[in-house]
Amino acid sequence: MPELVERFIRNHKLDDREEYRKLLEQLEEPETAEYLRTEAVRLREQYYGKKIYIRGLIEFTNYCRNSCYYCGINRENQKAVRYRLSAEEILACCENGWRLGFRTFVLQGGEDPWITDKRLVQLVHSVKEAYPECALTLSVGERSIDSFYRLRKAGADRYLLRHETADEVHYGRLHPACMSLPVRKQCLRNLKSLGFQTGAGFMVGSPGQTYWELAEDLVFLKELQPEMVGIGPFIPHHDTRFCEEPAGSMELTLKLLSVVRILLPTVLLPATTALGTLSADGRERGLMAGANVVMPNISPKNSRKQYSLYDNKLCENEEAGEGFEALKRCVETIGYYLSMERGDALV
Ligand code: SAM
Repeated sequence: MPELVERFIRNHKLDDREEYRKLLEQLEEPETAEYLRTEAVRLREQYYGKKIYIRGLIEFTNYCRNSCYYCGINRENQKAVRYRLSAEEILACCENGWRLGFRTFVLQGGEDPWITDKRLVQLVHSVKEAYPECALTLSVGERSIDSFYRLRKAGADRYLLRHETADEVHYGRLHPACMSLPVRKQCLRNLKSLGFQTGAGFMVGSPGQTYWELAEDLVFLKELQPEMVGIGPFIPHHDTRFCEEPAGSMELTLKLLSVVRILLPTVLLPATTALGTLSADGRERGLMAGANVVMPNISPKNSRKQYSLYDNKLCENEEAGEGFEALKRCVETIGYYLSMERGDALV
């Protein structure tokens, strides 16, 4: 194997951005990629055995004040049918999830101005009061450090905020000028400093991305040391400016899952919905590349289609319960099992 690959496996890091770029280039060799994947799976099993953690995803609002160019629910998209779940509807999703055995709920949404600190704190209180043993993850975009503090104090345990790309110029290609990479990175640092289990992450194959941009993502992740990393392929949405762009590749996404498992061995790494959207066996392949988390959608069936970030999003037409059974079977066919524990980050 190339010296660089051996060194990466041994040290869980490389010296600089250029070395990460070279690593990605070397992974074009199928034998090298397979070698790395095997090491990623070995590490995953060393820390987590055959367990796959499961999180119940509740997409509770698709209103958004931002206009990220890739995203189907960006505020410029007049065709998006907007919805916002009430606190009662959200609690009903949790109730359903709890009965199925879920012990982590993820509340995700656009940056909805209606979701003030007061309302969100109230919601966090209600969920934690009803399900004190559950871990609660929020994923509602950028907020002030004071806001993060209030949410943490209210009982939120984890926060997902993908950095999307760690390269300044590339960030500018994906977002309007009013959005800024330093602000996004600062939010992630603030979350960590407040004791949230923090998730960063990026899309693979977003327009303008090369190995050079991905290399910077790896440099940033190593420095930030997030407890979770969300990686999924970019998939175009027909009502965005990127509608004609090709989707990110399954193969490269899988390689990056393996690279991130080696970079941050104990990280909680989901096999994402976007991966499952690219191909029917995408999520299983993600788990076999080093991922150890799945996040089935437990939102009400009728709102799932409206939370349309990209085309043909795996909508799981079945009820949460049926989807859960199917997922359980498919995880078992690849030799793993679903763990119903909260699945906190290892420290
Ligand atoms: N508003 C919150 C935020 O910014 O973190 C959470 C919701 S946002 C819609 C969730 C994630 O969806 C983003 O972090 C982005 O990576 C992903 N996403 C959006 N559009 C996508 C697309 N076209 N293809 C793949 N993933 C996409």
